[in-house]
Amino acid sequence: MAERTVPHYDVIIIGAGSVGAPAAFSLAQAGVHPLVIDRLPSVGQGSNKRAIGGIRATHSDPAKIRLSLRSIEIFSTWQERYGDDIEWYKGGYSFVAYRESEEKVLKDLLDIQHSYQLNIHWLDKDDLLEVIPALNPDGLIGGTYASEDGNASPLLAIHAFYRHAQRLGAEFHFDEAVTGIIVKGGRVRGVKADKGEYGADVVIDAAGAWARPVAQMAGLDVPVRSDSHEAAITESVGRFLDPMVVDIRPLVGSTNYYFYQHYTGQVVFCITPSPHIWGDDVRETSSFLPMVARRMVDVMPRLKNIRVRRTWRGLYPMTPDGFPIVGWSEELEGFLFAVGMCGQGFMLGPGVGELLTCLVKEDLSPEDDEVLKYLSPYREFVGQEKLQ
Ligand SMILES: Cc1cc2nc3c(=O)[nH]c(=O)nc-3n(C[C@H](O)[C@H](O)[C@H](O)COP(=O)(O)OP(=O)(O)OC[C@H]3O[C@@H](n4cnc5c(N)ncnc54)[C@H](O)[C@@H]3O)c2cc1C
Repeated sequence: MAERTVPHYDVIIIGAGSVGAPAAFSLAQAGVHPLVIDRLPSVGQGSNKRAIGGIRATHSDPAKIRLSLRSIEIFSTWQERYGDDIEWYKGGYSFVAYRESEEKVLKDLLDIQHSYQLNIHWLDKDDLLEVIPALNPDGLIGGTYASEDGNASPLLAIHAFYRHAQRLGAEFHFDEAVTGIIVKGGRVRGVKADKGEYGADVVIDAAGAWARPVAQMAGLDVPVRSDSHEAAITESVGRFLDPMVVDIRPLVGSTNYYFYQHYTGQVVFCITPSPHIWGDDVRETSSFLPMVARRMVDVMPRLKNIRVRRTWRGLYPMTPDGFPIVGWSEELEGFLFAVGMCGQGFMLGPGVGELLTCLVKEDLSPEDDEVLKYLSPYREFVGQEKLQ
């Protein structure tokens, strides 16, 4: 009897999210034929749609800096190149310091940031107040300012990647869950899903907060845990703020928080809860609002009467050290990790997508090798990201 044949692709990507969609676009652009499978009904319905849209190259390590620089190049030129308005806005990022401890952390990072040619500067109090006049001057020491960072719409951006990936031949299956990885002769041969089987010699785990169960289907493990974060959006008010403001002071209830004013006037904000809220509960609450409101009004007193319109919760796919995990499995040939994006998967996605294409095409530059060394699935996971 003839052997049953299954549809065959060059690459199968599990997850049509912040990483999977731009990866499909980049692969298709390079002439690779990918199938993207997502169990949710359409593109970006996992963590991507919960992101608040911040995009920065202001990081503390070479890997995230390099990947974000690639991403910023893609986001900032997208409309010019492909015609879609993804609401890219070059408003900048400012990490503010009200205590010497944060001043030291931020100033110490400038060396590495400058060594990767980031356009970032330390501004003392008066200069920073010229850029962000609404900051509370009491106790303000200063802060970093990176004018080339910005924000874009996670919804519009992922739809743009999706549409152009399709135009270039990528296929997408929604409402279909991957349930197993097909392994034969010690290497990946495809995936089993609840609606069929598909063949491929490369399978990419881009399953975000669900990356670990997907790796386990292949008999592998990867240290990604899902962590709930809460965010909110206010009513629209007249423009008063350009950069994303980040306050990294750990206080009771939160390790940091960040906010910006969308160019249409709403203030969008998000906190990193302390302790972590591990698990995949995305039922929104408003219980974080009093705490974050106090912090925000303290840093920006004019926010005290602004009305919050909506809150939501989403998941960070966290790793033990706060850095993503990207690279081939050493135990299973053909299985590629693109997971653990923590709180930066939207901004890292396009850069990671290009890196995955270079991995699949075996066309890595020395810079790519450096990035992959930092993000190796086999690193020690000691140390901690300083600008999570
Ligand atoms: C409140 C909040 C604010 C944030 N703000 C920012 C920000 O300003 N900037 C930024 O860069 N990042 C931000 N993030 C983080 C960002 O949203 C994530 O890092 C990013 O979305 C992760 O991308 P991903 O592709 O790994 O996962 P996702 O986008 O979640 O995609 C993974 C996909 O895999 C699918 N999947 C899982 N298992 C299976 C399976 N078995 N079969 C088929 N499909 C499967 C899921 O359905 C999902 O669609 C924020 C996150 C939150 C929660």
